[in-house]
Amino acid sequence: MDETVKYLLAEERIPKYWYNLMADLPSPPPPVLHPGTKQPVGPADLAPLFPMSLIAQEVSMEREIEIPVPVREVYRQWRPTPLFRARRLEKALDTPARIYYKYEGVSPAGSHKPNTAVAQAFYNKEAGVKRITTETGAGQWGSALAFAGALFGIEIDIYMVRVSYNQKPYRRALMETWGARCVASPSNETQSGRAVLAQRADHPGSLGIAISEAVEMAAQRDDTKYALGSVLNHVLLHQTVIGQEALAQLEMAGDDPDVLVGCTGGGSNFAGIVFPFLGQQLRGGKKRKIVAIEPAACPSLTRGKYAYDFGDTGHLTPLAKMHTLGSTFTPPGFHAGGLRYHGMAPLVSHIKELGLIEAKAYHQVACFEAGVQFAKAEGILPAPEANHAVKGAIDEALEAKRDGKAPVILFNLCGHGHFDMQAYIDYQAGKLTDQSYSENELAMALAGLPVVA
Ligand SMILES: *Cc1c(COP(=O)(O)O)cnc(C)c1O
Repeated sequence: MDETVKYLLAEERIPKYWYNLMADLPSPPPPVLHPGTKQPVGPADLAPLFPMSLIAQEVSMEREIEIPVPVREVYRQWRPTPLFRARRLEKALDTPARIYYKYEGVSPAGSHKPNTAVAQAFYNKEAGVKRITTETGAGQWGSALAFAGALFGIEIDIYMVRVSYNQKPYRRALMETWGARCVASPSNETQSGRAVLAQRADHPGSLGIAISEAVEMAAQRDDTKYALGSVLNHVLLHQTVIGQEALAQLEMAGDDPDVLVGCTGGGSNFAGIVFPFLGQQLRGGKKRKIVAIEPAACPSLTRGKYAYDFGDTGHLTPLAKMHTLGSTFTPPGFHAGGLRYHGMAPLVSHIKELGLIEAKAYHQVACFEAGVQFAKAEGILPAPEANHAVKGAIDEALEAKRDGKAPVILFNLCGHGHFDMQAYIDYQAGKLTDQSYSENELAMALAGLPVVA
């Protein structure tokens, strides 16, 4: 086979459709509600923030949604992403389990986030949008959207959680290199930001606050829309290229996973790897153990309440039913900034309620230990968020060893940690500690949940 033919075959392996789990669920998730009327939101309510094509995807019940050719042409730069068998890690753990990981760190921004950023930028461009506002935690989403904005010629304004803005100057530089404007949040540019700063001048920020700022700015101008890097149905949909590729790649490898593991911040990379497999199961296929791993310092799935809540702290968004710690909850400033969100994707929350997935919470030091062990064995240095998935997969492999079982484990290595080296420096210096949230603050945030009849 000549090189050209092989290249075309690789391109053929990029999915042509996104997979929509809604088509296969036994029951739909509860509707998203208007915060004023408490009635289900309609497309018109969302139109100031998103182009109609994305709103249509948000509520679609179709199983397959075609990926536009210009989006596939961008995906081609790094997709299909590699699937590796972690043979050296298996050996280090002395486990009979076979461990595979899908590596999303090969994208230009270093994580899974461009899978949706490129799609969202494309649809906004098509709708004539000139500027997109967004929030970012650790900077992964902001850099993905900055990259996508550069490709499609859209201005990008990013509200970056202050603690990460200070911890991760290189992420900021990356966003600025791609032409985006990056502002520390809470900022003085918005009413929501000023309100928070009036309460606490040195506020470390949170994703909930940064979302309020970005939404507020987008609602003010006709040529400006808002983009979210996780949580929403259409974001999870775009990420399903991960799981679809993994399905095909594992088939090529002649293996079939028994256990799926992913880390959850807003739920998008987890959904991306899990939903295509779960869809198979719901259509009568094999039942697999599916585990979501979250940080113990911001444990929405394991400690949150399944209730209607705002997506942001300033209460500008619609109400979604999800596992939430309360929209005013500010998690401690631990290093996995991408996992510091008070809520969870409504779709991921729904399948948790249906008993289709499990959830576990881990503290950060144990996750870094796992990440360092993984890096020593496999060479790739994971993002602090991805360390949670690594830890989850390692625990599954060790459990298998104790139980004398040999399951096939697949986890999503959602990003590399090359911009998170301060976290690794702190870890190596023994300065990284396990941070706990305040039970008092959690109780207060939960007491403030909106009342929905
Ligand atoms: C943003 C991010 C996360 C958390 O977001 P999800 O929507 O839960 O995937 C996790 N890992 C990395 C590398 C990220 O950039």
